[in-house]
Amino acid sequence: MTTLDTLSLEAALTAKRSSLLTQLATLRGGAPSRAQASEDHFAHREDSQAQTATERDLEFALDDHESTELRRVTAALQRLANGTYGMCADCGISIAPARLQAAPEAERCITCQEALERG
Ligand SMILES: [Zn+2]
Repeated sequence: MTTLDTLSLEAALTAKRSSLLTQLATLRGGAPSRAQASEDHFAHREDSQAQTATERDLEFALDDHESTELRRVTAALQRLANGTYGMCADCGISIAPARLQAAPEAERCITCQEALERG
């Protein structure tokens, strides 16, 4: 397996996460802590799916792109922490380092990503 520069990838992801949290906070007209609370909310959504569905739909409608991006970046940081970073979520092969440098939050290899986008 090619050695990844995980430190610089982690730094890139952390910076991206901060900037997304700021953008979300601005979109919602609140402080960054509110976006953070919302993110924690996403992380635990399985626990209380029925109760939070409406609120979540509203958030997606407001800032779908940033929310999705934030979840992907957070998931990538979690994979870095648990040692599964850089493996394709679908087929399990190592994602090309060049792809990860271009998109550190990528969770699939280019083949699986293209297959997904084609449907
Ligand atoms: Zn794959």
